[in-house]
Amino acid sequence: MEQELQRLQEEAQQELAALTEAGQLEDFRIRFLGRKGSFSTIMRSLGTVSAEDRPRLGQLANTVKARIETLFEERQSAISKGLAADADRDQIDLTLPGRRPEIGKLHPVTQIMNEVCSIFEGLGFSVAEGPDVEHDHYNFEALNIPAHHPARDMHDTFYVSDSILLRTHTSPMQARIMEAQQPPLRVIAPGKVYRCDSDITHTPMFHQVEGFLVDKKVSFADLKGVLTVFTRKMFERDLALRFRPSFFPFTEPSAEVDIACVICGGKGCRVCKKTGWLEILGSGMIDPEVFKMVGYDPEVYSGFAFGLGIERIAMLKYGIDDIRLYYENDLRFLSQF
Ligand SMILES: [Zn+2]
Repeated sequence: MEQELQRLQEEAQQELAALTEAGQLEDFRIRFLGRKGSFSTIMRSLGTVSAEDRPRLGQLANTVKARIETLFEERQSAISKGLAADADRDQIDLTLPGRRPEIGKLHPVTQIMNEVCSIFEGLGFSVAEGPDVEHDHYNFEALNIPAHHPARDMHDTFYVSDSILLRTHTSPMQARIMEAQQPPLRVIAPGKVYRCDSDITHTPMFHQVEGFLVDKKVSFADLKGVLTVFTRKMFERDLALRFRPSFFPFTEPSAEVDIACVICGGKGCRVCKKTGWLEILGSGMIDPEVFKMVGYDPEVYSGFAFGLGIERIAMLKYGIDDIRLYYENDLRFLSQF
């Protein structure tokens, strides 16, 4: 009987280890621990052993039963936690290649920004960056936009306090750099700008590049030359350029610059509103008043300045019709560039 009990324990142990599903557990319990199970069958023979051996065998039987019950409970909890999937684990195919991690890339806005900077660097401009949180003085006053000037209305400014604001353009860098350095200057200033505005062509935060050149005898022809080289490199083709008279308080004369529509080539389409032209930047000759404020002599020096929107350039270059796509963090959109 002693041997039978030991064999029973071994068998139970082996069978339990092979069980992987909850349904099999019940079947095991009936066969080993049930009223008509193997253990009960052995116990019935306890009556036939000698009175001398009976206590020892009875105790052994209890130990074996407790042991099987413990193993059974352990297996039961392992299966319920899903840890018993040894069989599944054996099926992993180690020869399969691993999953490739996605390779990140630069945001299209950053890519265009870098491209714009490198084109101007090729023309001898240096790159300067300034603060996003700006003094009213540099954002407006020093650019010939005093308090109550109607041009302030166009800027939809986020104010931090009466005299501190989120810069509405990258032009404050003009005043900051001219104040600190003497001509000749050839500088571009890329960065984020902020306006309280949002629709399919406006976001509250967007990117601009400000550029300016100050020296003796700088003329409007120089401005045209620089911008023509820039647009041709940026859009990789010989695009016609058009200067339209405009107004900015810090340039005189001022001009908006259009390029022949990159979508229809100038024939007229939905994007260019049938005009054949697309506005891409604002520019002009730096106003003598701006020079006076930084202490340059307008009789000696002249210069031009321009500002362009990076998102706008990217939209035209890639044919994107909604500016908000840039900031929705949709990888399906972003991974195309
Ligand atoms: Zn067009």
